Amino acid sequence: MWEEVNLSPSTGNLLMDWVFVLTGLWAVIRFILVPLWKSWKAKLSLSYCPSIILPRFEKSFDHIRRIPSRRKNQKEHKVNLYRLTCSCHHGNSRRKYAPSQDIRRLCRHLRKELERSNLLLQYDELIQIIIDHRVKDTCYKIVQIQGDDVAIGFHPRSDFVRIYARRMAKQDPPEGPPTGHYDKFTFLLSQEIWIYGDPPPNAEIIIPTVNVVVSEHRNRYKKDSGGPEAVPIRT
Ligand SMILES: [Zn+2]
Repeated sequence: MWEEVNLSPSTGNLLMDWVFVLTGLWAVIRFILVPLWKSWKAKLSLSYCPSIILPRFEKSFDHIRRIPSRRKNQKEHKVNLYRLTCSCHHGNSRRKYAPSQDIRRLCRHLRKELERSNLLLQYDELIQIIIDHRVKDTCYKIVQIQGDDVAIGFHPRSDFVRIYARRMAKQDPPEGPPTGHYDKFTFLLSQEIWIYGDPPPNAEIIIPTVNVVVSEHRNRYKKDSGGPEAVPIRT
C-alpha cells in the first residue's frame, strides 16, 4: 500500500524562504553596503588632498532657502548657507563628502545663492575667484609668492593645473609684486606650458612651486595602491 506524500507545500515554503533571504541580502548590499563603500571611497579620495576651509557666516544664516531647479520637471533645491549643505548633495554629488566648511562643498546652487545674497563678497578675493570658476578641482593649496597668496587647484592624476594669482596693475613696477585683480591661469604640467592665455606674473617662481606641490601629492597617491579614481567634482 502506497502512502501519498505531498511535497509541494514544504517545497513552496522553502522557495519562499530563499526568495525572502536573497531579497534581504540584495537590499542590504544595495542600500547599505554599496552607499557605505561609495562614501568611504569618496572621502578617501578627498582626504588625499589639501583644501580650503571657508569662514562660517553668522548663525542667522542657519536656515533653509529654497532654490528653483533649472529643469522644469525637477523639484526645488534646499540650501543652507551657514552649514553649506544642499539637497542636491543627497544625489550622486561627491561634494557632500567634503568636510564641514570645505570650499569643495559648494555646488552650483550654493554658489548661485551666495552670489545672489551678496555673501560672496564676504570672502576674500582669492576665494571669490575660485568660486567664480566653479570649484572644479579636487585639491587646493594656497602658497605665498612675493608676499601674496596664490592658489593651486589640481588633481594628483591630472596634467591640468589651475593657478589663481593676481595680474599686474598698471602702476606696478615690472619686478612686482603684482597688485591687480585675481585671475585664473591654466598650466599643462607635462609640457610646462600655459594654455588658454597668458602666463601669470611671477610664472618663473610659480612653476617650480606647482611642481613640488603636485608631485608631493602624486607620490602620496601612488603609495596607497594607486590611490582612488580621478573623478572630477561636478555641479
Ligand atoms: Zn546643490
